Amino acid sequence: MARSASHDKRLVAVFDAIRVCEQRTVPVIDWTRFYGEEVGVSAPSYVGPVAIHEFEGRGLGLIATCKISPGEVVLIEDSFGLSSTPNGPIQKAKTELVEACCNKLGSVDTPLLYKATFWCLHSEDEETRWEGWKQTSFRKSVLHKYFDHLNSAESANGTYNGLEQPPPDWGKSKKSVASVVSLNSRKTERWNPWTLLLDESKSLGGLWLAASLFNHSCLGNIVVSYGAGKDHSTLVARAAAPIEKGEELLHTYVYPFDTFRERQSKLQSIYGFYCHCCRCTIEAPHASLASRLADDLELELQKFSAARGGAKSKMVEVVKGMGSALASIEKAEESLPADLRKVWRSQFLWGDHGLAMAAQEAGLFPEAVHAFRTCASLVALAAPSSEYELKYSMMLAQCMARWTLSTPQVSPRPDLKEALREAEEAHNRLYGGGGRHFVVRMKKRLEEIYAALRRLQ
Ligand SMILES: [Zn+2]
Repeated sequence: MARSASHDKRLVAVFDAIRVCEQRTVPVIDWTRFYGEEVGVSAPSYVGPVAIHEFEGRGLGLIATCKISPGEVVLIEDSFGLSSTPNGPIQKAKTELVEACCNKLGSVDTPLLYKATFWCLHSEDEETRWEGWKQTSFRKSVLHKYFDHLNSAESANGTYNGLEQPPPDWGKSKKSVASVVSLNSRKTERWNPWTLLLDESKSLGGLWLAASLFNHSCLGNIVVSYGAGKDHSTLVARAAAPIEKGEELLHTYVYPFDTFRERQSKLQSIYGFYCHCCRCTIEAPHASLASRLADDLELELQKFSAARGGAKSKMVEVVKGMGSALASIEKAEESLPADLRKVWRSQFLWGDHGLAMAAQEAGLFPEAVHAFRTCASLVALAAPSSEYELKYSMMLAQCMARWTLSTPQVSPRPDLKEALREAEEAHNRLYGGGGRHFVVRMKKRLEEIYAALRRLQ
């Protein structure tokens, strides 16, 4: 049968994509033990279907070399340097991290490839780069070599690529090291599976060479989690949403539910750039309105804090006040084009969270379930597969369970099973694997839900 040329071309493209994807061997890891309470099992380094790409005006970044599904691992990498004091003040963590990186760069035990890769990262002080390192093509070739090394079982050999002579002083000055650290450091994060809150007590500042290439977007498509090693921290990046071939891999550097102005101010003060991502483009023209509505909502939230532990009637009043502040936000939302509404609305997710908590405390379960559902749907849109999605999907399931357990006559909630399944899927995408892994990590959180499910049978 004759085939058109374009059909053949399409087939070639399909086979190319399959070939690229087949080359990957994703390591098999016991994720329950990897995310263990203390020092977890280690994981081999790995780079998924990604390539280094130069973006005009933004420098180097990473793109997908084939379609990537949510939950798929795109990077596993050990830290290059770590701060030493858990949960220290930001300035102290930075000083310690700069010290750790200087030591690593000055050590004869550190492979030249690692040192060369460090100097290929974005720097606040581009002028002090060595001559060769000023060329993007050279930096790209070093980074390629480092990526290949991450996927090979062998340790890095002594070479780093290209240049005849290595620069004489790899450690350079503390100031130059600090210029790289400043733009590329991250904080390790651990989410307490019981409280579903960020546990800052063990957080450290760290630098991961390959992960430093993920650029920022307020609508990121990758999520990052950490496993604790003995003297390092292992970063695991997974796809948060479907990523098309050629699409850039983007990570959200700041809290995704701050208002447009709050996000911009944090990005400018910490990373020194103004965000032009698709979400910011949508939200920028309505920034004043959003800030005013956020201030009104904040006032209602303060009333919630004051009413906690007091009379139930007082809490019912609080729920009414929050409900009307959120109604004003929804009214403003109606004036926006339909396709922008939900993204814009996600700036106020913390208000729905407050309403859900207040309604739950007042025993107003239908209102609480509705508000948690709003949180879960907004988070799935603005920060898919994140810790926040897991948190709100678990809170929704738990609220449904409490509603069931608090009603003397069983009120059938068939949607509880569905909510639990959604929470497990969110866990699966973020922490690799549901099933036993989910049950082990969520232990206590599941007790009420299981009790409610038994009552439904
Ligand atoms: Zn943005």
